[in-house]
Amino acid sequence: MNDTFGRPLRNLRLSVTDRCNLRCEYCMPETDYVWLPREDVLHFEETSALVDIFLSLGVDKVRLTGGEPLLRRDLPELVRMIAAKPGLTDLALTTNGVLLAGQAEALKAAGLGRITVSLDTLHRDRFLKLTRFDQLEAVHAGITSAHRVFGGLKIDTVVMRGVNDDELAPLVEYGRSVNGEVRFIEYMDVGGASRWTAERVVSRREMLERLTHHFGVVVPIEEPGSTAPAERFALPDGTTFGIIASTTDPFCRTCDRSRLTADGMWYLCLYATHGLDLRAPLRRGAAADEIRALIAGGWSARDDRGAERRLALGDRRAFVPVQDLLKRDPHIEMHTRGG
Ligand code: SAM
Repeated sequence: MNDTFGRPLRNLRLSVTDRCNLRCEYCMPETDYVWLPREDVLHFEETSALVDIFLSLGVDKVRLTGGEPLLRRDLPELVRMIAAKPGLTDLALTTNGVLLAGQAEALKAAGLGRITVSLDTLHRDRFLKLTRFDQLEAVHAGITSAHRVFGGLKIDTVVMRGVNDDELAPLVEYGRSVNGEVRFIEYMDVGGASRWTAERVVSRREMLERLTHHFGVVVPIEEPGSTAPAERFALPDGTTFGIIASTTDPFCRTCDRSRLTADGMWYLCLYATHGLDLRAPLRRGAAADEIRALIAGGWSARDDRGAERRLALGDRRAFVPVQDLLKRDPHIEMHTRGG
């Protein structure tokens, strides 16, 4: 199953809720939100049925995300249903970590393979300012649990000028202490990032300069054939970290990921303004083959390269600067679509 640029359908990001227990300023800066109607949110059986169809079309990696996926009641039950499916090679979860300490064991027992925790700062006051919640201690506890239960983890950090760009080295050092590989993400102008400006982006080049200045020579790690968005690097002592340069050097050419929202809308690009409704056919009882044909048709017509198109715009502003638009269609929000 290849799209118009020969990119295979492989990575499925499954958003299990649009709700979140943090309000990160690069993702959810507003005071109020329009949430998906509860009755629209897929039941686990429905999600599982769609995952079966995706797997039959070539998907082999699934990542649970949101919103905050650990807010979804009984999440380990969904993990158990998906982990057992033939053809799946990788089942991962992206979380802000706040509720992780209480759930890590159950998630592991249910068959979850890997965890990524988002963490942007090691300072309690900054964390509060950035997320509007005083939860840094809970996140540390979550990371400690992930280290203990899963043996290690990834830590995702969105780097913003004037906010946390002085914490690159401390975050790498913290990651090392919990067997967590840090991946620095360039601040993206995605839906929801209504306060994005080009000046606040810290580029991969600048991050590498700063890390080289602090640690010494930084060596790129060659990973031939990798379609992962992060480029990985090694420090002189062997510690590794990654950079996802989605803003200044997008990876559209190799992007094999698509996103299913909690209410069953399927998006082929983070920047797509329209998705394919899979909930409607599912709920009217369409046969699996009919839904398979819909998905196959959608993917083979895919010509999205949203991040490259954004880069090609010279004078760049927030993707959706007007809050009214986000309210009219909450699916455009990063926290709905699943980061
Ligand atoms: N709540 C979970 C979490 O915090 O990891 C999962 C959902 S969150 C939307 C997924 C990822 O998207 C997080 O790592 C977050 O930092 C990232 N993200 C959100 N808005 C972003 C932006 N404007 N630029 C870059 N990354 C962003």
